[in-house]
Amino acid sequence: MGLSKTIWAQPSELLRTQQPDNPVLFFAPMVLQATARRFLSGFPGLVTYAVKSNPDEMVVQNLVAAGIKGFDVASPNEIAMIRRLAPGAALHYNNPVRSRAEIAFAVEQGVKSYSVDSRSELAKLAEMVPAEGTEISVRFKLPVNGAAYNFGAKFGATTELASELLAEVARLGFVPSLTFHPGTQCTDPMAWDAYIRTAAGICRNAGVKARRLNVGGGFPSHRVGGQLPQLEAIFALIDRVATEAFGDDRPALVCEPGRGLVAEAFSLATRVKAIRDDNHVFLNDGVYGGLAELPLAGLIDRAEVISPDGARREGEPRLRTVFGPTCDSVDKLPGELGLPVDMSEEDYVVFHGMGAYSSATNTRFNGFGDMTIATTMSLRG
Ligand SMILES: *Cc1c(COP(=O)(O)O)cnc(C)c1O
Repeated sequence: MGLSKTIWAQPSELLRTQQPDNPVLFFAPMVLQATARRFLSGFPGLVTYAVKSNPDEMVVQNLVAAGIKGFDVASPNEIAMIRRLAPGAALHYNNPVRSRAEIAFAVEQGVKSYSVDSRSELAKLAEMVPAEGTEISVRFKLPVNGAAYNFGAKFGATTELASELLAEVARLGFVPSLTFHPGTQCTDPMAWDAYIRTAAGICRNAGVKARRLNVGGGFPSHRVGGQLPQLEAIFALIDRVATEAFGDDRPALVCEPGRGLVAEAFSLATRVKAIRDDNHVFLNDGVYGGLAELPLAGLIDRAEVISPDGARREGEPRLRTVFGPTCDSVDKLPGELGLPVDMSEEDYVVFHGMGAYSSATNTRFNGFGDMTIATTMSLRG
């Protein structure tokens, strides 16, 4: 990926003047900083950023500039990058499975917060990490729907095991905390309600007062026209339910959004390589590139079409089947996308809300995936 120093007014300015034939991911630092401030002023606790959703250094730098002081990291590389870009920031090593070499690296880097969801991983931490002043958060799961896909399928202890682990964490002299992730793109705020009340029950069963409760990522982004995420309503619900469930024992709250912070700050411009039979649209990017997440998390229908002369196509939308550039038949977007009837070959289809899980999971499959990142003031077409 290449980065140029130019700052564009809007995507169409670059598209018109450069006519890029490879995908371009447009980044608007001002949008990212505004979203960060929305979390910082609205969330009733510490806001940390889940680095995996978009590990671009410009993203981290802009979040630090906006006032983000903590990061959810999952690997030695992420730890090293945050130590370099934000030396004073808190690191929460919340990938609950780590090799011994990874734990040793984290200890050496001064990481003071870890999550666990199993006895064997807790035993490993107890052996290698000095307990004094170090937090261990027990990650638990519930069979809750409401998210784009189920995070509990991989990580999270049952509530019974979580009580046992929390008691053991306290007995070992670590700072006991709890954490959960309701699932990414969680559009049902009641998922947080159920998780927070369950967290209070886990503490009661364990006879342990949790120092902190991390309510995860999962904050939704704007993917489908007309369905605007209600972040402030989710923040207010989390605040109210935490008090109701824990009373005087309310732990300090932490959140670790990835998507909710970064998605809106990027738009992906793809180019129409061909339109076949007036229906099948072939783009220069697809599910092995910046659109990798769409088959898992659902279609983003917030797409604008820009002609090579920089004008926005205003024709009525018509549903089309959209394919990516590789020769693999799974390289197809889910469902059908409404695109203007007057669109044509060499136009650009600009997808909005593309900051999370796009550049991070881009592959070079079949020789494609050569993506540029461009900085822009505004993301409107
Ligand atoms: C991926 C991840 C996040 C971020 O999830 P989003 O749905 O992008 O907000 C937060 N915490 C953990 C532990 C994760 O693995």
